[in-house]
Amino acid sequence: MAKQFSTEDDCLKHLQQMKWPNGFISPDCGNNHSYEITSRHLYECTQCKKQTSVMSGTLFHGSKITLNQWFWAIYFLGSDKGSISALRLSKLIEVNWRTARLILKKLRTAMGHRDSLYQLSGTIELDDALVGGRQKGKRGRGAAGKKNVLIACESKDKKAGFIAMAVVDSICHFSVNEFVKKH
Ligand SMILES: [Zn+2]
Repeated sequence: MAKQFSTEDDCLKHLQQMKWPNGFISPDCGNNHSYEITSRHLYECTQCKKQTSVMSGTLFHGSKITLNQWFWAIYFLGSDKGSISALRLSKLIEVNWRTARLILKKLRTAMGHRDSLYQLSGTIELDDALVGGRQKGKRGRGAAGKKNVLIACESKDKKAGFIAMAVVDSICHFSVNEFVKKH
């Protein structure tokens, strides 16, 4: 991590590679030729003349911290399974606590958003489960105090891939249909 993304330029190149894996594409007209204004990391479309940067349209756009700090924040958040505190992050990437808190909020929102956009693919197994503490009374579906959960799981070579889960009011063909369509 430190070696691969040690400078701001490394990070920018990486982001550019993710954004335009097959070269520049104008977000306005789809043209794939541009002039590069290297001093400002801007690209001007040869056709519609609009300027865009690698960062525009990403959550890093207009940020006061460097891309390098963002990358480290993502790294620490990822290696901590998402549980890192703003205080700890602020020390690690050398920003103040408020900034660290804002970074975490933005990253967590973006990651949650990514989950909701992810579409399961391949062979998918679907099941339902009841989740909740042990309680006396009815067992199985309809038991009091328990939540119905729908689970869809990608089945990849006998291993589980991505999983989607949702709490539903009841297990019926409406809720199952809606869940299947969404994921
Ligand atoms: Zn254009």
